[in-house]
Amino acid sequence: MSEPYRVLIIGAGLAGLTAADALTVGAGAGPPIEVTIVDKAKGPGGRLATRRIGGATLDHGAQFFTVRSDDFRARVDRWLADGVVEEWCRGFEQTDGYPRYRAAGGMNHLGKHLAAELADRVTLVARQRAEAIIAGPDRWAVTYEAATRDVDEADAIIATPPIPQTVELLRAGAALPGGELGERLTGTAYHKVLAILATVDPAPGLPSPGALQRPDHPIFTFVADNQAKGISDEAAVTFHLAHALSAELWDAADDEVLARVDDELRTVLGPAAVTEIQVKRWRYAGPAIPSPEHSLQIAARPGPLLLAGDAFAGAKVEGAFLSGLDAGRAVHRLAGERAAG
Ligand SMILES: Cc1cc2nc3c(=O)[nH]c(=O)nc-3n(C[C@H](O)[C@H](O)[C@H](O)COP(=O)(O)OP(=O)(O)OC[C@H]3O[C@@H](n4cnc5c(N)ncnc54)[C@H](O)[C@@H]3O)c2cc1C
Repeated sequence: MSEPYRVLIIGAGLAGLTAADALTVGAGAGPPIEVTIVDKAKGPGGRLATRRIGGATLDHGAQFFTVRSDDFRARVDRWLADGVVEEWCRGFEQTDGYPRYRAAGGMNHLGKHLAAELADRVTLVARQRAEAIIAGPDRWAVTYEAATRDVDEADAIIATPPIPQTVELLRAGAALPGGELGERLTGTAYHKVLAILATVDPAPGLPSPGALQRPDHPIFTFVADNQAKGISDEAAVTFHLAHALSAELWDAADDEVLARVDDELRTVLGPAAVTEIQVKRWRYAGPAIPSPEHSLQIAARPGPLLLAGDAFAGAKVEGAFLSGLDAGRAVHRLAGERAAG
């Protein structure tokens, strides 16, 4: 029996989980492929992030998603049938007919669901921060922070962190490409987003469906009452600060951030009183300019090294899915070609 083809995926966000699925679905049809996913966080999901404050549940990264492509449509239809996602609304304040989906119980449940589906096909290792991607003579090697895990060796790597974080791993392992490609990677910029999470009493009277989407607003571009959204037992509001204001306040202390937005926050909440409030920082909320290709192979030796995630195929949940799918299928094909000799 031939040695399995070893693929290491860095990042268990939607892109990494989707790539793992694409590599292992219908196992037996191609060469044996062994997939490991590592993530520095304590659980899967990445920016599909949900936090609890007391009895409240708040989505604080991605808030909802839309569907445009056939591939994503097919997958979302399955999630709908499984009850993992639900239609939330067809627009904010005004309807435009296009469904916006939420994950039942919070966006992170989608990440957990996908990880559970992969459990018998893929090794998923949480709390493992990759430190360096190194080209060995025959295989790639990945080392971990403070040697918390033995070096992983792999025939192929799919790296799904935001590009600046992947650049750090490549640089640490002397594997960052030079020339135009290297410049392109090191020049990939992301927007920062500050999120404010507040439990409130009573519920604020936000317009149906319990959220405001205001892309051009200078303070809060998105506000959602997670209880009205249907994911929280208690009233709890997520506020996303505008990109420019998030960048300006990035290094400010939480108190300073809260003081700066206090007037607008009170205007949005009306008579509702805040019972607890937290500030959360997303350094890499989304790429400023996503690349049109769905994934990017940046090396072929000692094996394929692909980058995937929402930096490709669109800075959204759907883009992360399509990118992971593309990278997983590409590596599956390359594994087949190698097995065929
Ligand atoms: C505030 C905010 C609001 C958003 N709102 C929406 C929205 O309403 N609709 C929408 O469609 N999209 C939204 N998005 C975008 C959406 O969340 C992302 O496009 C998508 O979740 C990205 O998935 P990904 O797998 O590409 O990356 P991620 O989810 O970021 O996954 C990358 C993973 O890599 C891991 N990682 C990083 N470095 C290392 C390392 N060194 N070692 C190991 N693991 C590592 C991280 O822990 C993470 O889990 C929003 C994002 C944010 C932050």
